[in-house]
Amino acid sequence: MQETKKSIENFFKGKILWNEPMKKHTSFGIGGPALAIMYPSDEFDLSNLLKIAKKEDINIYFKGSGSNILAHDDGFDGFVISLSKSFKKLNISKNKVFCESGVMLGSFVKKCTSNNLTGMESLVGVPGTVGGAIKMNAGAWGMEISNHIKKVKMMNKEGEIIELKKNDIEFGYRFSSIKNDLIISSNFEFENSNPEKIKKLKLSASSSRKNTQPLKFRSAGSVFKNPENYSAGYLIDKVGLKGMRVGDAEISKKHANFFLNLGNASSKDISQLILIARKKVKEKFDINLELEIKTIGFKKDIF
Ligand SMILES: Cc1cc2nc3c(=O)[nH]c(=O)nc-3n(C[C@H](O)[C@H](O)[C@H](O)COP(=O)(O)OP(=O)(O)OC[C@H]3O[C@@H](n4cnc5c(N)ncnc54)[C@H](O)[C@@H]3O)c2cc1C
Repeated sequence: MQETKKSIENFFKGKILWNEPMKKHTSFGIGGPALAIMYPSDEFDLSNLLKIAKKEDINIYFKGSGSNILAHDDGFDGFVISLSKSFKKLNISKNKVFCESGVMLGSFVKKCTSNNLTGMESLVGVPGTVGGAIKMNAGAWGMEISNHIKKVKMMNKEGEIIELKKNDIEFGYRFSSIKNDLIISSNFEFENSNPEKIKKLKLSASSSRKNTQPLKFRSAGSVFKNPENYSAGYLIDKVGLKGMRVGDAEISKKHANFFLNLGNASSKDISQLILIARKKVKEKFDINLELEIKTIGFKKDIF
């Protein structure tokens, strides 16, 4: 590894944090050390890094800002690559928007709405980067980021650029078919609207968020996807788990699909709550809850 480290440090212009705890880089505030967290400064950095990782058979995980991730207490034996410190270009020309993946979703929404472009208002207050939002097909109250995508530029693990049109990608509820590639930038197209309508939609989204979500605590947002015809929070509430604690992890009393880190929760604590909620909901409603959050460093099929 010393040789690999040296050869990466020789060309890499971005930032590298070796042996860095994931807990410092996830909204949950949970997770042991990754071999490295790396912030490439441009496509050249990124492509060379991926080529070395491939050659040396080093695991790779793509991260945005870590707002939808549960990282294992034992960490991740590999490189975590994020574009969130660079890749920040955002250009608007009439109703067309070009945005790199490291832009924060909040800035993207703000730029769109202040240019009287409609479609992203409900995403106000959703944390994360635009790259992460596309991968997750982030959405709220009927709006989804994929509704306005035209094209996506990505890099595969061989360090090659791929460009896909919207129709080449499958998007669904908190799902995209983008699996192994890193989203670098995207092109969007929006309709115009009037500022008053846009303001109303934004206000309604942010007040609903404040009223229903435990925003004062560390979490990764909704833990489970909503199954058909139900909300996961309702089901977890109905099996009596609101407020249940394991260690410093709690199923929120305000919104039962938000699991909170009240201080020093471990991935083990959160995992236990996940397994308990799943079991109880299955027993009472015969419904299998599917995880919305992504996990890193876990053994396959633990959930
Ligand atoms: C308080 C709170 C409220 C939330 N509310 C909502 C909500 O209303 N609606 C909603 O949809 N989500 C919500 N979320 C979840 C989260 O904010 C979104 O999923 C967000 O889009 C994740 O972005 P990120 O950059 O943090 O991605 P990360 O959490 O870093 O990563 C999420 C997934 O995307 C992948 N990924 C990240 N960046 C890239 C990239 N550039 N290329 C390829 N793959 C990538 C990762 O590998 C991982 O699989 C909420 C979270 C919190 C903490």
